[in-house]
Amino acid sequence: MEQPIPFFYDVTLRDGNQALAKPWNNAEKEKVFLRLLKLGVQGVEVGFAAASDMDFESCKGIAQLTASMAEKGDVAAQNVVVASLARANKVDIQRAFEAIQYAPKPRIHTFIAVSKFSMEHVLKMSPEQVREKAVESVTFAKSLLQGRGDVQFSAEHFGDSLDNMEFVISLLKEVVDAGATTINLPNTVERYRPMLYVEQVRQVVEALPKHVTIAVHCHNDLGMATAATVESYFVGATQLEVALNGLGERCGNTNAYEVAVALYNSGAPVQLNLDKIYETALLVSQWSGVNIYSRAPLIGTEAIVHRSGIHQDGASKTKGMKKGAYRPIDYALIGRDENDSISFTSQSGRTAVYEIISAFGYRLSLEEAQELQPILKDLSEKEGELSAERVLDVFRNERCNVNGPLIFNNVEVLPGENRFIFYFKKESEAMVKSITAEGPIEACLMLMQSIGMPVELVKYRQLVVPDSDPLWKGRGLSRIILKAANKTVEGRGVSSDTLKANMRALFSGVNLLYR
Ligand SMILES: [Zn+2]
Repeated sequence: MEQPIPFFYDVTLRDGNQALAKPWNNAEKEKVFLRLLKLGVQGVEVGFAAASDMDFESCKGIAQLTASMAEKGDVAAQNVVVASLARANKVDIQRAFEAIQYAPKPRIHTFIAVSKFSMEHVLKMSPEQVREKAVESVTFAKSLLQGRGDVQFSAEHFGDSLDNMEFVISLLKEVVDAGATTINLPNTVERYRPMLYVEQVRQVVEALPKHVTIAVHCHNDLGMATAATVESYFVGATQLEVALNGLGERCGNTNAYEVAVALYNSGAPVQLNLDKIYETALLVSQWSGVNIYSRAPLIGTEAIVHRSGIHQDGASKTKGMKKGAYRPIDYALIGRDENDSISFTSQSGRTAVYEIISAFGYRLSLEEAQELQPILKDLSEKEGELSAERVLDVFRNERCNVNGPLIFNNVEVLPGENRFIFYFKKESEAMVKSITAEGPIEACLMLMQSIGMPVELVKYRQLVVPDSDPLWKGRGLSRIILKAANKTVEGRGVSSDTLKANMRALFSGVNLLYR
């Protein structure tokens, strides 16, 4: 039997964003949205319009952006479903409609809890009241859309409704009669076996008319969200609700990449641009401030590393093949350079730079990798393939203790006086400046101000050079993020003296900003 095309419905901007320590602003949300279009997801839940004015504005902004892109002929924008979440009440639904009505394919997504536990203890409503509310809400949403777009209904806590499935199914039938064309079955909290949940999903697929799209939305509380989502597809749930990097409340939503690759490996006709996965993951990690766990499937730094002899042997014998002895895919599938022996050639891109430097234990951003790529490309055109150590050399020169208009020489601390004397060169002219301040970093910031190169300190970390760097291991590594005129850079300073490492990091950052 031919498998249906899985419909990837991304909830990063709603479920993912609401769980961030520092939620994205509208401009940041737009960046993520454009990235989702590049990846090729078919639906995006852009927010919860009634949650706040800011949420409303960002839903509306993205809906309008989609419309203007679609008008200019952007196929992804023409086809993507843009949804706002709304609780099952008229105010929320009205607000959702007002925000997303501009999108070429608007969707109102309304929900109410259906588990006995939540109806009794959270909603404090009888099942009959819940049923009424659900039907009324879907009817209202449908009437607002007037045939433009569609209505999705979610039976919140579906996964916890093992003991009242009869009620849930009869409610869902009525909701479908009222006009919902997508029925979502969330495993709002993952509590039990995936196979029990998948069995519930199968019952709903069988009970509802064939024109209804069945969706699954799994949370990863017990680490099985991907399993539950993938298996649900094979019993007839064709809309898969996922998040980039598995972001989302608590332990996150189902990870988009894992589902996409598992389905691809199993022969499902996945229509995402899988080769954008790795780059997307790195960008989302940067934008969200949520690091990627080193052993995260597919995207963790360790995912492509083979340490034991037996594994290395198997890996090298099957290198370049679609199936590998010790890997689930040829990593080129997700746009990742799989370097069993890591090196850089003139064809290598920024993710190769990122991989090589990260493998040495240094942290860098994808933007920095991007800036280093052309330098390494030039070099490899002259020298041929560059070894990892050679790439590290370039990283050290270009990103650590960077010289520019300023050259740091020394700093002296006069104890008891809070006085710092800086010896340095500015535009080749030797200078000595004395600054009184509480601490050395404050003094150095004041120094920059006094010589007409003001910067703002964003973040500061004192570390040690990773052991994998044979030249500098064990020395102090200071990472300082600085900002000036809307440009942000990371200054890295290395020295066996902690104070000097700090000062070099600050000088480095200033040189990057003012060169
Ligand atoms: Zn959720």
